[in-house]
Amino acid sequence: EPDGEAVLRTDGLTKRFGGLVAVDEVDLRIDQGDIRCLIGPNGAGKSTLLKLLMGRLDPSEGTVFYRGEDVTDLSQHDRVRQGMSMKFQVPAVYGDLSVRQNLHISLQQRIENDIDARIDERLESFGLFEEADTRADDLAHGQQQWLEIAMASALDPDLLLLDEPAAGMSTRETERTAELVHQLNDQGITLLVIEHDIDFVRSIAQSVTVLHQGEVFAEGTIEEIEENPDVRRIYLGE
Ligand code: ADP
Ligand code: MG
Repeated sequence: EPDGEAVLRTDGLTKRFGGLVAVDEVDLRIDQGDIRCLIGPNGAGKSTLLKLLMGRLDPSEGTVFYRGEDVTDLSQHDRVRQGMSMKFQVPAVYGDLSVRQNLHISLQQRIENDIDARIDERLESFGLFEEADTRADDLAHGQQQWLEIAMASALDPDLLLLDEPAAGMSTRETERTAELVHQLNDQGITLLVIEHDIDFVRSIAQSVTVLHQGEVFAEGTIEEIEENPDVRRIYLGE
């Protein structure tokens, strides 16, 4: 297999919105078992990149490979069936439905058997058991984020993409989210996580990619990234 252990690879991935190049010839490679954090200033193209990876948006140019296979023309649904899953930045729960019903809808996309048992297991590991019958709209903000991660991860993905999973969370909730990320990774899930809270990034990242004006600006360990003077200049504002 030419990709070795790469779960995800992109080649020249580009997205233009009219004259704006939101994602500019991005070559990305994520290996099995990684927790990759994608950081960068507001408007750097992070969310757009994840949408391209997941098939929510079509690229202007370039290719997405999942486990060595070109998935660029596959729908989002087909990518989910192949083992990719994503939590978007904008909430995607059904507010009128209960936590349990939301999980059920998500699981039906890929799982056929033992759905109820899986829902119970997810509720347990995400600390949502008491809230099983609560309407999603009535959840606390942090719990709603966890429900979305639970929905995305319940599909047994090999690769999970999370867009700002800790946004708007308290310190305690953010720490809990980091624990959940590690738990999912321990279960064998490779993760790509967009986040701007650098403490959260420090607590989860095994590797970091910095995006700036749509381009990969730097890549390395969190230590390498934090010590990189160019990164400090564009990202940390120094
Ligand atoms: P980030 O997630 O890093 O903050 P985004 O990917 O959301 O950045 O946006 C990157 C750039 O693309 C921004 O300039 C944004 O305004 C623009 N953009 C994003 N989505 C669209 C869209 N659907 N139409 C036009 N411009 C967009
Ligand atoms: Mg974004």
